Formats: sequence, structure tokens, C-alpha cells
Amino acid sequence: MRASPNAGAPTDPKPLRLLLVSPEAVPFAKTGGLADVAGALPRELARLGHEVKLVIPRYGAIDGAVHGFKEWKRLKVSTFSGSVTTIIEQASLPGTAASVLAVRHDPYFGRDGLYQQAGVDYPDNLERFAFFCRAVMELLRALRQVAGWVPDLIHAHDWQTALCPVYLRTLSAAPVGIQRPRSLFTVHNLGYQGIFPASDYPKCGLGPELFTSRTLEFHGSVNLMKGGLVLADFLSTVSPTYSREIQTVELGFGLDGVVAERKDRLAGVVNGIDVEVWNPATDSYLPVRYSAEDLANKPACKTALQREMKLPTVEVPLLGVVSRLVSQKGLDLLADVVPELMALEVQLVLLGAGDPTYEARFQSLQTRYPTKVGLRVGFDEGLAHRIEAGADMFLMPSRYEPCGLNQLYSLRYGTVPIVRRTGGLADTVVSYSPLAVKEGRATGFIFGEATSEALLNTVLLALRVYRDPEEWRSLVLAGMRTDVSWARSARAYEELYRRVLALESK
Ligand code: ADP
Repeated sequence: MRASPNAGAPTDPKPLRLLLVSPEAVPFAKTGGLADVAGALPRELARLGHEVKLVIPRYGAIDGAVHGFKEWKRLKVSTFSGSVTTIIEQASLPGTAASVLAVRHDPYFGRDGLYQQAGVDYPDNLERFAFFCRAVMELLRALRQVAGWVPDLIHAHDWQTALCPVYLRTLSAAPVGIQRPRSLFTVHNLGYQGIFPASDYPKCGLGPELFTSRTLEFHGSVNLMKGGLVLADFLSTVSPTYSREIQTVELGFGLDGVVAERKDRLAGVVNGIDVEVWNPATDSYLPVRYSAEDLANKPACKTALQREMKLPTVEVPLLGVVSRLVSQKGLDLLADVVPELMALEVQLVLLGAGDPTYEARFQSLQTRYPTKVGLRVGFDEGLAHRIEAGADMFLMPSRYEPCGLNQLYSLRYGTVPIVRRTGGLADTVVSYSPLAVKEGRATGFIFGEATSEALLNTVLLALRVYRDPEEWRSLVLAGMRTDVSWARSARAYEELYRRVLALESK
């Protein structure tokens, strides 16, 4: 007997109920890339048919009227100093079926900054985020009682939410007969762990048995990230390579052993980019637009960029950099070889802000090579787009890079990335080799050692390949055709959620 065409085909998996918890999310509040992730991921998961709710703190800087926040419910949250009433406000995430729930407690969150003021961390950050996580636990109860809604999984992001997986395991929030939601804890940058004096520990509302070197204690202090790493059902980071790197002494920031112990429950999912905002075919920051199908206008973007940066409009390879000027980004390696590079027919355009010593170093290089180096110190969204479009090559010599976004923008804009083999850079750029180009796979250049020699040699290789228009075009087009969208990342998270849900509890 012949099988029917559908025999054996998997039935549609059931949609998931997901609660994402993040300390920041676009368009409400942002200090870094995490906000982009927390804004885009719920939207894409909702598009995939899942029921998604996002929880954030209701910061003073969030304009409730603009975003349509309305009171949903008042909840009692127990804290170390007694029970506190908090307001849960609700709004929708623009353009999606996902909803946003904001924990409003003005004494903690009604301030100008998210985590700090004038560069100094708020002294009560542990108290603030322990409260936020306790409120999430109460919110779970309320969602169940009021709306009959129980998430399958809670996806918590970075140290500020690390107590969510801890509380899920330690507070008996789930009544008999209801399965405890599983937890996934994602590390966006292990360099930021939420470390506080031991005297703050009671404010977590946890028993002394959890303040040991096996859990939240870390060299005599409280380490919230460590709690999440130890007690979440599953862990992830923002690229597979970074998930391996954080198990090493070099990039583990003291938690490498803790991470390594859980390596069988650790995954890496590369971030996506907003392919509507970052689209060379529609980008309103650009003087003219282009696409993989029609690259004719890309050279005009280069000429306009040269003019904007006061460089001669000559046809030489143009190297671009857009970066925070901090040691993580390895720009000292670049500064070291600028004199060698400037002996060649090239131009360099750099946009960045940060550490004043880096700013001064590039200022002096710009003064020394005024016709070859273009520099803008500061934050300029439009110029970032114009560099991505106008440069021929984009440099990212990072010492470490959990995921990295700029190389993804570069791929999309046909600007060939030259990157160090670390974190998300290693996972998203396919390195040049004659064979990889022939097979249409190569999208950029990768170097291994964090040395200026390795960077220089790789730039020299890229400059040689640039002289072969056929090969160069193959690199450009392969990059532009790479799927760097959030839709791809959301599918990867969906797969990961199902994997976590299928696990036996440990
Ligand atoms: P990180 O989050 O470590 O700074 P990423 O590459 O993940 O590095 O993301 C950096 C983001 O910030 C990118 O969107 C980049 O374009 C932007 N950016 C960094 N510095 C500047 C700047 N000076 N002006 C404009 N955009 C910048």
C-alpha cells in the first residue's frame, strides 16, 4: 500500500507561550544592543505565531502617553523590608500582537537613568532589580489567575534579570498541578555581571544556603549573573563562538568554570538586524540607494562620503570604522598600523566615541594624514549608515565581540568586513580563500591573532583582492545575499525553546 503524501510529515508544532524579561527594549528604553534584541525578538516570535509577552521596568524616561501604557493591575510584591504595592502597566509592542508589561515602582525606576547617573551606578541596583524579578514572579501568578495564562518558558536577559531563573527554582510560585515554566538565561556580554557587596545579599530575599561559592557568592561578593548561570534550566549567548569563549580563562571574566560546568546546557544564537532600517535600497540617510541587483549607485555613496569627511574624491579603496572607542574593540591595533597603511593608496574613515585616549590618538593621526584619514568623534546615526554604504571595506579588529552588529550591517551594504576571529564575528563572516570565492561563499576577511601585524597583513590581502573586480564583486554579492534578519534568529530561538521544553528537568 502506498503511503499518503503526508504520512510521516510532522504536524504543526503548537504555538508557545513565552514571557521575555529584559531590563531594556527598543522603542521604550535603550543603553545598548540588548534593547534591540529585546525589541525585535518578541515581534518576530509573535510573527511566527507564538503568544509573547515582554516585561520591562517602567523607567521614568519612558513616555507612557507616547507608548500607550495603561494600568493593568496592582500587585503586592514582598521585599526584604516588607510588602510593596507595584503597578503593572500594559502596552502593545508597535506593529505586533506581542504585549509589553511594565513594572512601575517610581522610587526604584522613576529616575532619569536606567542603571546609572552621570557615569556612576545607582547604589541600590541590586535592590531595584531584585524587586523587578520578584515582581515578575507575582506577575506570573496574576497572569494565571486573571487571564489563565501560564508561560511555557521564561527567557531572561543579562544580570538584571538573573534572579528570575533563581526565584523560579527557589520560590514555590507554581501551585500543585501546574508545571513550573522552564527558564532560558541569555548572556549578552559576560563582562557585566551585577556584582554587589555581601551586605546587600539579604535584599535578594534568598536563604543563606544560596550564598555559597556554588551559587550566588563570588569572591566574597554577590554575583547575580552567576545565580542565573547556575540555576537557569538552559543558557545561551549571542553567538556559538562566544558560548565557547566564555568557558576560557581569557574571556570568562572569572565565571569560565561556572559556564563550563553547564556546557551541555549552553547554546549560541546570533542576533539579527532590523533589515528594514538597515536596507541600502530604501535607507533615507543615504544620498542615493542601491541593492544587490543594482549596485550602480554604491560608488556615488563613496564619493559623497569622501566629500562629507573632507577627503579627496579619488578612486582608492576606502576603509570604514564605526565603533565605541574602548579597548574591547581593538582599535589600538589599527592605530598602530595607520602609518604603514597611509603609505599605500587608501583612505580611512572613522566614526566613534568613548575613551579619550583613543579619541586623541585618532585625532593626531587625522592631523598627520589629513588627505587620507577622515575622523568624526561623537555619535551620529546617519553617518554610521553612510559609512556602511560608502566604504569598500569595514574594519572590526575586536579583542572580543559577543555578537557584533556592524559586520552584519556591512554584509547587507556590500561593504566587505575585515574582522578578527572572535565571537559573532567568527560566526557571521565567511573568510576569503580563492576556493571560497569560487564557490560564492566568501563574504569577508578574518584574521586570528590580536596583533597589528595580523591586521595589517589581512588588510593587505584585502587590498590585493580589491584589485580583481570579479573576485571583489563575488565577495560583495555573497555578503549582500546573506540572511542577517531577525526572522532567522527568531527561528533559531524557537528551536532552542522547544529543545529546552523537551529536556528532562535537572
Ligand atoms: P557594541 O554593542 O559592543 O557597541 P555592536 O557592533 O554590537 O557593538 O553594536 C554597535 C552599534 O552601535 C551599531 O549599531 C553601531 O552602528 C552603533 N554605533 C557605535 N558607535 C557609534 C557612533 N559613534 N555613531 C553611531 N553609531 C554608533
